[in-house]
Amino acid sequence: MTAQTYLFTCLKDNFGVLLHDPASGATASIDAPEAAPVEAALQKTGWTLTDILVTHHHADHTQGIGALKAHHKCRVVAPRAEAARIADVDETVGEGDTVKVGALSGSVIDTPGHTAGHISYFFPADKIAFVGDTLFSIGCGRVIEGNPEMMWNSLLKLRALPDDTQFYCGHEYTDANIRFARTIEPGNTALAARAEEVKRQLAAGKATIPATIGAEKAENPFLRADNAAIAKSLGLSGSPAWKVFAEIRERKNRF
Ligand SMILES: [Zn+2]
Repeated sequence: MTAQTYLFTCLKDNFGVLLHDPASGATASIDAPEAAPVEAALQKTGWTLTDILVTHHHADHTQGIGALKAHHKCRVVAPRAEAARIADVDETVGEGDTVKVGALSGSVIDTPGHTAGHISYFFPADKIAFVGDTLFSIGCGRVIEGNPEMMWNSLLKLRALPDDTQFYCGHEYTDANIRFARTIEPGNTALAARAEEVKRQLAAGKATIPATIGAEKAENPFLRADNAAIAKSLGLSGSPAWKVFAEIRERKNRF
């Protein structure tokens, strides 16, 4: 384990996170929801901002870029398919590309659905993933620019990461996600245990992430749309998994 991370809150319920390479001193901000909390996090850690890695074009992930770049002259890496919608981009990337933060090496995974060009970053040596608004703990992003089949396929790519991968998402939505998830799988004991853990974390003023891919596979209904019991309980036995996913997503939209 060489990489260090620092997690903090931006805006109302966005997460900011810094990724730091102690060997070189390089530090990336994953997205830039807001400049001031990123600056405060840099002050607190003593780290110097060298890079911003953008997951998607939404304003609550990008509106801090201009001020941070003006101050730190950092490199801005963004999804190729959305570069025209993001200010101050230096480098564009897509599926299979490698992004370096100092000596840390991340690979880019195309995860469209929430937005059409959304990407995630996976740092395999440290098993850390930054998934933006594609996967949330016990939830997933709204399917805004893509379609349910596209989003399901993106979630499958993230589900295929090693079980002990720690992932960082864009929002603190875990508590509300759990309340919904328990309507889909009321008998899921792993989910019930997670609900207790999250209650304790939030009561102590702590974040509920990072979470692991392995735990999400057992607890997150959006990663379990190919589970036969879930399909059956939704009256969708025999349907393709993406249709089960679409039904779960629809129910969450109305929840
Ligand atoms: Zn978004």
